[in-house]
Amino acid sequence: MMKDNTKVLLIYTGGTIGMMEDLETTNLRPFDFKHLLDEVPELKKLELEVEVKETKSIIDSSNTNPEVWLELLALIKANYEAYDGFVVLHGSDTMAYTASAISFLIENSNKPIIFTGSQLPIGKLRTDGKENLITAIEIAGAKENSRPIISEVAIYFEYNLYRANRTSKVSAENFEAFQSPNYPVLAEAGVSIKYNRFALKKANEERVQFRNKISEDVASIKLFPGIRKEVFWAISRIKDLKGLIIETYGSGNAPMISWLDDELKLLNEKGVLVLNVSQCLTGSVSQAKYETGQHLQNNNVIGGYDITFEAAITKMMYLLACDDLSHEEKRNYLQTNIRGEITL
Ligand code: ASP
Repeated sequence: MMKDNTKVLLIYTGGTIGMMEDLETTNLRPFDFKHLLDEVPELKKLELEVEVKETKSIIDSSNTNPEVWLELLALIKANYEAYDGFVVLHGSDTMAYTASAISFLIENSNKPIIFTGSQLPIGKLRTDGKENLITAIEIAGAKENSRPIISEVAIYFEYNLYRANRTSKVSAENFEAFQSPNYPVLAEAGVSIKYNRFALKKANEERVQFRNKISEDVASIKLFPGIRKEVFWAISRIKDLKGLIIETYGSGNAPMISWLDDELKLLNEKGVLVLNVSQCLTGSVSQAKYETGQHLQNNNVIGGYDITFEAAITKMMYLLACDDLSHEEKRNYLQTNIRGEITL
């Protein structure tokens, strides 16, 4: 097969796709990558060149953390100029977090960075891994007028391509494990791959920039009826806390109880950025709609619009580590669409 000169870098980080059953415990455990390539001889038929690199430890993605994200970022950065596109093989459990984090850490990227994985190991007869892998590579190498069609970080899973920072894992069972409830799919793979042009990020001419710091001084609190102030305080009073996400009801509503308002005032005085993210999967936070939202607004809580939790926490971790930004700028960016993550 004649190869064109498109080069895609496949980065293997772990996840079910490359796992095998431990014969003693029957648990699924990550394995080395060599067998993975043996399982997919179809890769040799692709018209583009694929090279493979691995992160230092091959992990179940539930074991990931910001250090692993920065290692992955460094791998992409070191190879950015040499490749036309990237495919990251990653466990599906935390894929939406890692992919969202990478989307924030790279500014002005015009290359496709496609995350994929699978629900069944690639060695299993009914695996979803082969199709996911092959199509993700095809998308990462797809060009039009010699420019990549996709110029953003995305997740490809079970025939759909999603904007990474709009995506959540919604099923532990179905092959269709992901959804991007507040944003259209970027592409659908059938007999051919249909790109939804109107939804794609436009390429820009700015220079690509990699940020290499992440703040872990963040926390989140999911509200529930009856939540005790001690529970809230245990989190909101963590030493050195810089950012807090409150997962609220509906369009960003929370109970009107005095201890909550007092605590929010205190957080505001301490300079902790508080972001309001809805527990609903679709729709947007609008703090001015009900009085149960207005009291949050009055305490300087930032409305998160239709952001996913995964994007919200990683955006905060990214922004809080930007030492060149003032407190006010960080607050403003939290309510600005910086990587296509919110609809204003
Ligand atoms: N536990 C696995 C992981 O996230 C699940 C998967 O890959 O789908 O690494």
